[in-house]
Amino acid sequence: MTADVLVVGASAGGLAVAEGLRRHGFTGTITLLEREREPPYDRPPLSKQVLDGRWPPERAQLRTGAELDALGADLRLGAEAAALDVPGHRLTLRDGTVLGYRTLVLATGLHARRLPGRPPVAGAYTLRSLGDSARLRAGLLAARRVVVVGAGVLGCEIAATARGLGREVTVVEPAAHPLLGLLGPALGAELAALHTEHGVRLLTDTPATGLTGEAGRVTGVRTASGAVLPADAVVVAVGGRPATDWLAGSGLTLDDGVVCDDRCRAAPDVYAVGDVARFGAGPGTRGVRLENRTNATEQGLYVAAELLGAARGPYRPVPYVWTDQFGTRIQVHGTVPAGAAVRIAEGSLRERKFVAHAVTGGRLVGVVGWNSPGRLRTARALLTAVAPAPAPPSTTATTPTTTLTGDP
Ligand SMILES: Cc1cc2nc3c(=O)[nH]c(=O)nc-3n(C[C@H](O)[C@H](O)[C@H](O)COP(=O)(O)OP(=O)(O)OC[C@H]3O[C@@H](n4cnc5c(N)ncnc54)[C@H](O)[C@@H]3O)c2cc1C
Repeated sequence: MTADVLVVGASAGGLAVAEGLRRHGFTGTITLLEREREPPYDRPPLSKQVLDGRWPPERAQLRTGAELDALGADLRLGAEAAALDVPGHRLTLRDGTVLGYRTLVLATGLHARRLPGRPPVAGAYTLRSLGDSARLRAGLLAARRVVVVGAGVLGCEIAATARGLGREVTVVEPAAHPLLGLLGPALGAELAALHTEHGVRLLTDTPATGLTGEAGRVTGVRTASGAVLPADAVVVAVGGRPATDWLAGSGLTLDDGVVCDDRCRAAPDVYAVGDVARFGAGPGTRGVRLENRTNATEQGLYVAAELLGAARGPYRPVPYVWTDQFGTRIQVHGTVPAGAAVRIAEGSLRERKFVAHAVTGGRLVGVVGWNSPGRLRTARALLTAVAPAPAPPSTTATTPTTTLTGDP
């Protein structure tokens, strides 16, 4: 069997490709392969509404059965891609089935990283899938003391959820602030304060080196100083690793993701989207890989358009990440690079309701909203507008600002 378009991975990115194709009037055959047996579901609620019990797991499904039927795609659940022959336009599933394709789109996302050299033990969790979320919820409900390793988006959200469930929560993080890469030091310190006020014990500058256990059950987390933080449940939230193991030997360039050009093309008739795609690679640049929900959809829709000759130019998104912690919604458009000047452009830190601008070399590179979704509606346009040429945004000239850090 040969599909006109074969998509590997039926989550946010893969589904967007199929839907984008149909939206553009594509009438060819689409096959969607998904390793999991669940119909396509969304991941952001897994650390929030599903983990804290506000939503039943099925509410995380991305589409109803009727919507999936209407897509007119051959959705194969429990179908894991195991090998790829790029010149032969053939893909082999784990069960030995061989599928042909005219165009292939890789949307396989990430695997959760683990601490090096430590086998999984009972009471130790990672979070990537719906099943992980259910196991973690059961583990949190049964635990008194929880240690979260890593204060990135996922670690901070899990800490907030666990605290909301009434657990004693400690977070260990090697960097000086939580969410440092996303928020920079000044806003990272604000987030640290939010967690501390809610009773989280936040240990920054504290690398975790491994787990301790007894009789196959986790008992704690060992830190670089040799201290052991006792725990009944440990959540390892130290990032993800692109799900590309099965592509080794395929001839595709793999470098912390599937390497693609600025049109998301990895090889003739092979594209990649979402968390797994490192796009925009070329002479002198390794390209960029984004791990956020909005990019998965936007990149999927872009590739659908590109396949039909309807894309307007190269793929150049403005990154956007949101996170919810302790009832606070934090939204980041663009980036807050190390050393950027961060100023409050609207609202105030005191009220914990503000919009902050990150400026580097006189250019607006990031806009952060803190409990200010309404105020942020125009932020992306502002960044898109300034992206091609370095120019100071007009709002900084007219709005009183508070500088938090760095030189503009
Ligand atoms: C718990 C959690 C919370 C998050 N919260 C936020 C948030 O608040 N805000 C935000 O912006 N982003 C958030 N994210 C990130 C966001 O969910 C991801 O960026 C998004 O899911 C990426 O979509 P994707 O389709 O590229 O990859 P994925 O969602 O990872 O989907 C890839 C799919 O491919 C399948 N697959 C993998 N290998 C194979 C194979 N060999 N054969 C067949 N199928 C395969 C997988 O089973 C999976 O279903 C969160 C992520 C997680 C895990």
